[in-house]
Amino acid sequence: PRSRASSRGRPAMAPVEVKEYDYIVIGGGSGGSGTARRAGGWYGKKVLLVENGRSGGCCVNVGCVPKKITWNFASVAESLRDSVHYGFQTPSNIPFSFPAFKAKRDANIEGLNRAYERNWSREGIELLHGTASFTKDSSKELSINLQDGSGKVKVKSDHICLATGGYPIVPKEIPGAEFGITNEGFFEIEELPSKIAIVGAGYIAVEMAGMLNAMGVQVDMFIRGETFLRTFDPMIQTTMTERYENVGIKIHKGYKGFEKIERISDGKGDGKVLKLYLEGREVMEVNELLWAVGRRPETESLGLENVGVKVGEKGYIEVDRFQNTNVEGIYALGDVTGQLELTPVAIAAGRHLSNRLFGPPHLKNSFLPYENIPTVVFAHPEVGTIGLTEPQAIEKYGKENIKAYHSKFSAMFYHLHPPEEKDKNPTEFKIVCEGPEEKIVGLHLLGLGVGEMMQGFGVAVKMGARKRDFDACVAIHPTSAEEIVTMR
Ligand code: FAD
Ligand code: NDP
Repeated sequence: PRSRASSRGRPAMAPVEVKEYDYIVIGGGSGGSGTARRAGGWYGKKVLLVENGRSGGCCVNVGCVPKKITWNFASVAESLRDSVHYGFQTPSNIPFSFPAFKAKRDANIEGLNRAYERNWSREGIELLHGTASFTKDSSKELSINLQDGSGKVKVKSDHICLATGGYPIVPKEIPGAEFGITNEGFFEIEELPSKIAIVGAGYIAVEMAGMLNAMGVQVDMFIRGETFLRTFDPMIQTTMTERYENVGIKIHKGYKGFEKIERISDGKGDGKVLKLYLEGREVMEVNELLWAVGRRPETESLGLENVGVKVGEKGYIEVDRFQNTNVEGIYALGDVTGQLELTPVAIAAGRHLSNRLFGPPHLKNSFLPYENIPTVVFAHPEVGTIGLTEPQAIEKYGKENIKAYHSKFSAMFYHLHPPEEKDKNPTEFKIVCEGPEEKIVGLHLLGLGVGEMMQGFGVAVKMGARKRDFDACVAIHPTSAEEIVTMR
């Protein structure tokens, strides 16, 4: 058609160059970076990475990293209060600067953004800042709308990986919902509010409520059930919900949605005032409102309809265990697939995929098994879990085949605290065993330091440890972890 156009007197258009790569990865977050680096850095493939936000994705910018730094900040605040019980004459109102802390946290993250880009560049990965979407005319061709406004480029590859993550849900059906923030706004807070309402009952709600409470903010949580963390073992649900109530977090159970939200004033810290219309004409004024009611996959920008990549009911891209979508040569991994939404899971899935596509023959069937993946909720105190909850184990193996070991105690750290303080800080462990061999199919921990404990015990459970293997390991005394190998 082009030569016909020029023969009619119009100037011939230069054909648009379509640059070709061995591998194109969309999304420079945990999973995208993991798969791109394995393909480029290890296997020397020509890789293009496309990212339309900040390098490192959710985890680095508005997830794990700023969260853990803030969790540390809150833990220091808790330790200062604990110090009194060890004889320190610590005043109860030690001044601190949240803006100074935030500036240091932001600088740390900017350093990580640069480190990600340095690693990509060192490994020969080409980075384009822009939004990638499939074009209408070819399944393996993508159009990238460049972030700097310089136009579009077209690229293609036989192997394309979608690792575009997700975004937080805001319940738009509630009038005024937009006055609240999500995890993204949480990390923009410059001055702490005196009072915050948090809606949700999962990881983010529980982590942020714990941190804010430890930092001295009045927290009101709104949860739909009687407990939070309802996908965790009942022991975790019950003890953690009670613990949060005991340290002064007000938990409003049976939440069915606010009628509306009004913004009375807008500003930083207490300069912001929102009025929440609860059920039955009750109203509550707060200085901030945080939505933590789950996340949705980011697929809208991708033009999936142009290539027919299938998404499931909740919008997640459907994949098999090899991360293949229904379209050959197009893969997906990480949060956009709704498999376990954790950074190391996305990274591991990405590395397995690149091993399979570009690695040596013995890795041609490489895939990530999604069973027995340990996880930690950075609550106050932490919660660690791997494998099945007790009800899940009973459902899978039958009640007669399951034996659970349980221990609840006060960690030695609290032995100098007054009794009521001790009671507020339980440590609790459960081991769920299956069959006559007592194979450990679930391990659930809560208490000081369990985040660090969980990793090593995770290795043992993954290796198929039985209860007697735990028992055969001599305890380390005095620790909380020794209870795990001495439980009867
Ligand atoms: P992401 O990291 O979200 O990366 C996707 C990237 O794709 C983004 O950078 C986005 O800008 C880009 N993108 C999207 N569409 C396009 C497009 N069309 N073109 C180009 N680029 C595009 N996990 C843990 O393991 N431990 C924790 O402690 C933890 N804490 C968390 C705390 C919070 C508050 C949140 C929200 C999450 C937390 N997570 C944690 C979960 C973890 O952050 C995610 O599971 C992980 O980041 C998912 O990685 P991903 O690569 O799938 O997606
Ligand atoms: P989650 O899926 O963990 O929790 C959201 C919870 O909110 C639901 O379980 C539900 O609990 C409740 N909920 C859902 N809809 C509503 C509603 N309309 N009103 C009130 N409550 C509602 O999502 P998060 O956003 O907390 O976190 C997303 C994911 O990110 C996590 O699942 C996790 O994989 C990852 N993450 C990991 C972290 C870590 O590793 N430490 C930290 C933070 C996030 P219920 O049914 O009880 O009402």
